[in-house]
Amino acid sequence: MALQSTVYLIDDEAEMVELLTDVVEMIGLKVHGFTRASQFFEEVKTFASGSILMLDLNMPEMDGIEVMRRLAGMDNPPALILVSGHDAGVLHSAEKLSEAHRLTLIASLSKPLSMDKLLQLLIQYTESTSSNQQQKAASSEINISPAELKQAIENDQLVMHYQPQIAVATGMLSGVEALVRWQHPQHGLIYPNYFIKVAEKNHLIGALTQSVIRAVVQQEKEWQSKGLTLTVSVNISAEDITSLALPEQLSQLLKDNQLDPTRLILEVTESALMGELVTSLDILTRLRLKGLCLSIDDFGTGFSSLSQLHRVPFTELKIDQSFVSNLSTDDEARAIVKTCIMLGHELNMKVVAEGVEDGATLEQLRNMGCDLAQGYFISRPVSADKLVAWLKDRS
Ligand code: C2E
Ligand code: MG
Ligand code: MG
Repeated sequence: MALQSTVYLIDDEAEMVELLTDVVEMIGLKVHGFTRASQFFEEVKTFASGSILMLDLNMPEMDGIEVMRRLAGMDNPPALILVSGHDAGVLHSAEKLSEAHRLTLIASLSKPLSMDKLLQLLIQYTESTSSNQQQKAASSEINISPAELKQAIENDQLVMHYQPQIAVATGMLSGVEALVRWQHPQHGLIYPNYFIKVAEKNHLIGALTQSVIRAVVQQEKEWQSKGLTLTVSVNISAEDITSLALPEQLSQLLKDNQLDPTRLILEVTESALMGELVTSLDILTRLRLKGLCLSIDDFGTGFSSLSQLHRVPFTELKIDQSFVSNLSTDDEARAIVKTCIMLGHELNMKVVAEGVEDGATLEQLRNMGCDLAQGYFISRPVSADKLVAWLKDRS
């Protein structure tokens, strides 16, 4: 069998670790068992793509919830199988938490475990990752050094793709989100999940954002000259909103290029607002005064309070795709999306649903009065050239 994933086990019961080790080894997977989470973090610092962690939630020293929180801060964390002897409610909250942390969840299982079911899950997961995620796996195995990334930014190896956003009511194109990619000379196209964190940790994000904004401004000018008026959304990071000169700089750049500032939307995640609130509030407010728009990205996954949301002058709220993609199957997700739309509208914001993957979801969003939609069902992110072709196709 061509299964090569490593399975890590953390369970405070030594007999359980032993039993599971034997079972998992039977299907040819590598296993590392731990009875303490602290020992796991001491010994395992990096994860190969396709790694799996079977995690007991109830452990005396460091529990499974804390383990998830720490994993969320690491690069390329393993996919999870959560295990608990507690009631279903605990597992359910833990599932939601893994989603909020953007960890991949394979399954959650109650004790006593069914070994057959476990093996089936492991086989299915390892086969699917080795076949259809090759591109992803390839990127995650590339060890990105800060020096190489710095060079890439300086040598213009970053390219922009644009994902259309449509008005839900009419289906008309309203704008695009600019998403950066790295055209690597050896590894091909690398997705932002593999290098944005590296940029953020190594003070390269400022230069990256500047490079993205320059590219977007050029593109917007070109569209404008062709008579295409679109809003363009750009993602910015926490560190970008610590530079007090940003509003003046951006505003000047837009003036120099004769672009309407209200068509540039800066997307900030809730977690980016967790730092220096006074400074970021100062900057965000002045950006608004200069006419730029502000969007709160991945809404619902961060931990900002509603009063914080009220204080920052956002013009747009983007509901996180984890809620949108479950709209048709999960009652709670539906309730959350509905509430986010109401909340956004009450606060005079446009509401965008991201991660729309099928027609049924788009239809539900229409019924709920959502303003804008973005997702694979409408279009994947594409190069600027392909965007024009996409537009022609649609009309
Ligand atoms: P994001 O801002 O939340 O962007 C949406 C991500 O969801 C994009 O991934 C997009 O390709 C993906 N997506 C769109 N529609 C669907 C869908 O229907 N289903 C699913 N499953 N996914 C969908 P991408 O391009 O890989 O970007 C990932 C993240 O990287 C972005 O999340 C954003 O946080 C960050 N990022 C991208 N470009 C930049 C940038 O220029 N600067 C900064 N600081 N961060 C960026
Ligand atoms: Mg975004
Ligand atoms: Mg998002």
